[in-house]
Amino acid sequence: MGEPTKEHRRLLAEIEGEARDTKCWTGREAFSGAVMEAMARVPRHEFVRPGDEAAAYVNRPLGIGHGQTISQPYIVAVMTDFLDLGPADRVLEIGTGSGYQAAVLAEVSGRVYTVEVIESLARAADARLRRLGYDTVEVLTGDGNQGWPEEAPFDAVMVTAAPRAIPDALVEQLKVGGRMVIPIGRAHWTQTLYLGVKGEDGKLRANKTLPVAFVPLVGKGE
Ligand code: SAH
Repeated sequence: MGEPTKEHRRLLAEIEGEARDTKCWTGREAFSGAVMEAMARVPRHEFVRPGDEAAAYVNRPLGIGHGQTISQPYIVAVMTDFLDLGPADRVLEIGTGSGYQAAVLAEVSGRVYTVEVIESLARAADARLRRLGYDTVEVLTGDGNQGWPEEAPFDAVMVTAAPRAIPDALVEQLKVGGRMVIPIGRAHWTQTLYLGVKGEDGKLRANKTLPVAFVPLVGKGE
């Protein structure tokens, strides 16, 4: 995919700066080399709407149609970093959107299973990921509140739309010791990003991290 452009390199430097500035929220002053390399490798301009390519390497979310957004790059980096993924890990993502976050996850894990409720977005993301060679990502059209039971259990779970409470199915489908990152809160308000680890008792121990703004996770728990 070639070397990152000047704009892309500037974005990577901004993400590093924001990582330092948000250490009080995240407990991390820098993201792992693997995560930053993934942010350097994935061509975000391929995941935005035609005409928005010039804004693809600005550190902000962009509309992708259907009232949905591709997340801000810093948020993609911090959420990916929180999962502490290894090259053999199987990850469940809820809220495929453009497929950008799934591609970043694919760069730092073994396999990514991503669920999107809007069929046309799921199809477009699937086609885009195939075209870019992300063969370790599988896309399902469905309600992410149910997770992806056929492929469970997962080493990690990332939710990129905000429910009011953590859906039980997602905790059930996470391995003991596995990590989950999920925004929780009311629609159209600022939510809180939680980072949880599943205990031996099957319960998720989750801590607050950053304030964030995501679209609502529709359906049950909305
Ligand atoms: N991860 C995406 C951005 C997420 S936007 C990216 O990298 O581009 C949130 C997405 O969650 C939207 O596409 C929305 O349609 C989807 N969504 C909302 N509720 C959902 C649900 N119940 N199940 C699956 N996807 C859902």
